[in-house]
Amino acid sequence: MTTPNPTPSRRRSLSGIKSTGHPHLGNYLGMIRPAIALQETHDAFYFVADLHALTSERDPVAMRQQTYEITATFLACGLDPQRASFFRQSDVPEVTELAWYLSCVTAMGELERAHAFKAKKDEGTDGAAVHGLFAYPVLMAADILIYDAHVVPVGKDQIQHIEMTRDWAQRFNHHFGETFRIPDAMVQKEVMTIPGIDGRKMSKSYDNGIEVFMPQKKLKQRVMQIVTDSTPLEAPKDPETCNVVALYKYFATEDELAEMKAKYRAGNYGYGHAKLALFEAIDRSLGPKRAEYDRLMADKGELEAVLREGARKAREVAFDVLGRAREKVGFHRRPV
Ligand code: AMP
Repeated sequence: MTTPNPTPSRRRSLSGIKSTGHPHLGNYLGMIRPAIALQETHDAFYFVADLHALTSERDPVAMRQQTYEITATFLACGLDPQRASFFRQSDVPEVTELAWYLSCVTAMGELERAHAFKAKKDEGTDGAAVHGLFAYPVLMAADILIYDAHVVPVGKDQIQHIEMTRDWAQRFNHHFGETFRIPDAMVQKEVMTIPGIDGRKMSKSYDNGIEVFMPQKKLKQRVMQIVTDSTPLEAPKDPETCNVVALYKYFATEDELAEMKAKYRAGNYGYGHAKLALFEAIDRSLGPKRAEYDRLMADKGELEAVLREGARKAREVAFDVLGRAREKVGFHRRPV
């Protein structure tokens, strides 16, 4: 489709991460690392989804701290703020205004079928769910459409929301005339679900995560807490069902992984040895970035400067797209 504003020379990719809890290895491998890689080929827009976090986070001190932790993690892992725009969702107020326009073309029934609310409904706790949780697919659609995003890299679980975004954008375009670019999901098939120390999906809500930049000593302690069975040291072990190997494969070289698997099968190799090897592999990969993370966390001024500059760039685009939408519904473009 053609949109009234100039098409960026690179396709724009858009991604967000909620500021709840501390970033863990699941976030790093599943989202942060692939997102940073995309800055090479795309006009990358990344945001800390603090408005989404507000549906569950009630501690303002934690909200601020977690926003900085995510920002410092991205920067320490190689995000280049000169190329990518990195910002706080709440610093672009245009997005909440657009969410309202979209909510006026959204059916209640569609939102009732959205994953997060449906899970509450199935549990029988939907009556107590906050409106923000019910309405969050609309805000997510606004997050995507307001930046004229071409692609949204997502895991399989998020496809439903991209489909909804496309539907609402098309509906709006149909009623009011061409306004929004219709985004595509970029499904990352190769991104698996990273397991936590108990073997379930690594998740802030299960308290089974390994934080990306925990101090070295704590990292070692956390790795040692990975749940394994009670097979004795001498006995052969199955690497395919072990929680340690499940994480090791993301940090080890192919040779190292093959070697560990062979040791498991041969016996006389304990889980303690495997955990130590995992700790060393994680530390080898992330340790050199930790100093930069610590430096950034010690100077919030630099993080603020990155977030503000990112918001300035994001708002330029958002202001323009919102202006288009305002004109289409019969309002006027606000003066700059
Ligand atoms: P959230 O904290 O829910 O905003 O998640 C941020 C990003 O991290 C999303 O793209 C998730 O898909 C990704 N993510 C979170 N946990 C995992 C996990 N255990 N394995 C893979 N990706 C994950």
